[in-house]
Amino acid sequence: MPSENELSEEAARLHSRLSALGWPMETCRLYAPLTLEINRLKKEKNAVILAHSYQTPDIIYGVADFTGDSYGLSLQAKKTSANTIIFSGVRFMAETAKILNPDKRVYVPSLEAGCSLADAISAKDLRELKRKHPGAPVVCYVNTSAEVKAESDVCCTSANAAKIIKSFPEKEIIFVPDEFMAKNLERETGKKLISWSARCVVHQDFDRGKIQAVKERFPGIKVLAHSECPPAVAQAADMVGGTTDMERYVKGSDAPSFMLVTECGLSDRLRSENSGKEFVGMCSLCPYMKKNSLSQILELLQKPAKEKEITIPASVAAKAKKALDRMFELS
Ligand code: SF4
Repeated sequence: MPSENELSEEAARLHSRLSALGWPMETCRLYAPLTLEINRLKKEKNAVILAHSYQTPDIIYGVADFTGDSYGLSLQAKKTSANTIIFSGVRFMAETAKILNPDKRVYVPSLEAGCSLADAISAKDLRELKRKHPGAPVVCYVNTSAEVKAESDVCCTSANAAKIIKSFPEKEIIFVPDEFMAKNLERETGKKLISWSARCVVHQDFDRGKIQAVKERFPGIKVLAHSECPPAVAQAADMVGGTTDMERYVKGSDAPSFMLVTECGLSDRLRSENSGKEFVGMCSLCPYMKKNSLSQILELLQKPAKEKEITIPASVAAKAKKALDRMFELS
């Protein structure tokens, strides 16, 4: 049992990060026993917690060892010396960590943490697309299953997609599965992208009209849109990219206010880490990302459930790793 002093110190630590998001000290005090126990067990079991920026602030500031986007977390997954990786994100991210760390145990806290993009295309669908477009190189977004990665020449994230697509001499390239991202990348790269009809449930519904209204109401505001947004939204934004691009932009900009057209978790994170900068609301919650919780993470550390461990057939993992390795080489 933690002492009263340890609990007070932990509550103060949480409050120092979460007060900017409106968390009172009483709430931090309620969370303190849970975060203390998770952090204790992490050390005891040589485990590391990787948390995507869209996770809730109690996970990000309470227990995560590393926070970032898919690419940054893939790099951390490659580097870690821990025996166990708990990937607080969605399933395809945990699969990526497993592909890069075949000898480690990798877990995802919630079995319901899927993704509307990754779940929209199967390896069979991609094989059919390849049959229809022989000779076209295949670039898959990281938001895909291990089986789809295994059918691809190279993987990419929103941070490096344009660079990877431009690296191919071919004019016509298969890019799966996000149809909006494909349209945005066609504009940026000048390539013809053959895509799939998948959309992110968070980004598909953002609306250009709201961006214009906010720009009129907040002079000088910078609008940053995720590349999974519809093309009309992307064209109305001051910057289009992934979550790390947005984070970098906010840190390096003198603008007084920002509107992040993406999942709410990133706005919360940047609000907490950029005091003096204003963040105007236009975000939406990812129903999959929010399936993970501190209590599920604790359960994994106490008694890992077999069904939450990521397993990938060796032949699939070997081919998927080639697509990921090529991404690291090209980016
Ligand atoms: S925000 Fe969109 S792309 Fe990201 S996990 Fe959720 S559904 Fe998938």
